[in-house]
Amino acid sequence: MGDFKFHGVDVTKLAREYGTPLYVMSEDEIVLRIREVKRCFDEKNERCSAFFSSKSFLTKDMLRILMREGMGLDVVSEGELFLARQMGFPPEKIAFHGNSKTDSEIAAGLDYGVGKFVCDSVGEIEVIDRMAKERGAGRANVLIRVTPGVDAHTHKYIATGGAGSKFGIPIEAVKDAVTLCGALDNVSLCGFHFHVGSQLMDNSTHIEALGVILNLIKKTRDELGFETRILDMGGGFGVRYTKNDAPQDIEGFIGGMTDYAEGFCRSNVIARPALVIEPGRWIVSGAGITLYSVGSVKRLPGGAVYVGVDGGYPDNPRPALYGAEYEAIVANKADLPPAETVSIAGKCCESGDILIQGIDLPEAERGDIIAVFSTGAYCHSMSNNYNKNPIPAVVMIKDGTPRLSVRRQSYEEMFSGNI
Ligand SMILES: *Cc1c(COP(=O)(O)O)cnc(C)c1O
Repeated sequence: MGDFKFHGVDVTKLAREYGTPLYVMSEDEIVLRIREVKRCFDEKNERCSAFFSSKSFLTKDMLRILMREGMGLDVVSEGELFLARQMGFPPEKIAFHGNSKTDSEIAAGLDYGVGKFVCDSVGEIEVIDRMAKERGAGRANVLIRVTPGVDAHTHKYIATGGAGSKFGIPIEAVKDAVTLCGALDNVSLCGFHFHVGSQLMDNSTHIEALGVILNLIKKTRDELGFETRILDMGGGFGVRYTKNDAPQDIEGFIGGMTDYAEGFCRSNVIARPALVIEPGRWIVSGAGITLYSVGSVKRLPGGAVYVGVDGGYPDNPRPALYGAEYEAIVANKADLPPAETVSIAGKCCESGDILIQGIDLPEAERGDIIAVFSTGAYCHSMSNNYNKNPIPAVVMIKDGTPRLSVRRQSYEEMFSGNI
């Protein structure tokens, strides 16, 4: 038959057994990608380590995989830290990010003993110093997130390194921040962090930012005597969502960055800091698909065709948020050639809730199963209850065997906080 198989599993059977919408992830693919990043970075160079950006996909199973593979974790909220803590994730392998951390978040990070805080403002450094003192937590390790002032070639909603960004401390203000850290007794400044943006197709922006930050490292050493021990170069390594995307291979992407840093340090006689990268999307995006059932199919007099599905904005807000593009198939008609150009419409009461605009598919009808590809990153983690749709389940496939990883949210759970 023409049923599509994902990592050896007939997805129409998964749709029948677990219902739709359904996130399907391949554990094998996630592990493969973690190992590939480690091979190209951690294992290729001295003092290099990759941290997984948990905001891209965070579940208990994901944490189990990361712990097994020995990869560190970036968190940006108390919620992400909560799950990591519940799973006993080693605190020293956690970095706490975020541009507007609350007191409660800082307290949670200090109490769990996270390896480092990535500080996004001077005010935050002072708060961490005060709270670390109050709690007798010892010196908190901090990195200063620097806004390198370079513009990434990506959607403006996922570009983060340009001058005027809401993220980071402007490069002109970094010297004072370093001096401040030196005067505080309860923080220990380990170095710097930058993250230029997400879904970048090549490393040119990263290299440009690296140049800026390495010069800063040289300057703070020469002028303030500060030795940078850690340089965190962020994430943002692009993936292929559609045939229009042609990302640089990961080995070249990351290898180019490491080589550049090594070269700069050698020629400027600086001890190379330990290097960190923070991939999220690259690890999980291609490891996931989302399954939907077709509801209504509308063929309009003008020729437009809408294939309506039972999900959309609640399980994947990215197309509505910044025009993200995806590819899809009719999973139970995988052997049929395309018959018409359609738009796959989400079920929410927003005209912008269109999952895919203009895709060639075989004729779809009610009850067909649509599989949308490369939804492993920023879909489950961005899911929401708009129109009171429950968060879909996650099925994890390992060695050709599927298992339930996250249960579908029940209506009782959805409304459990209502008094
Ligand atoms: C989002 C984010 C990442 C991960 O970005 P990807 O594009 O998923 O690799 C890494 N570092 C920081 C600081 C981020 O905000």
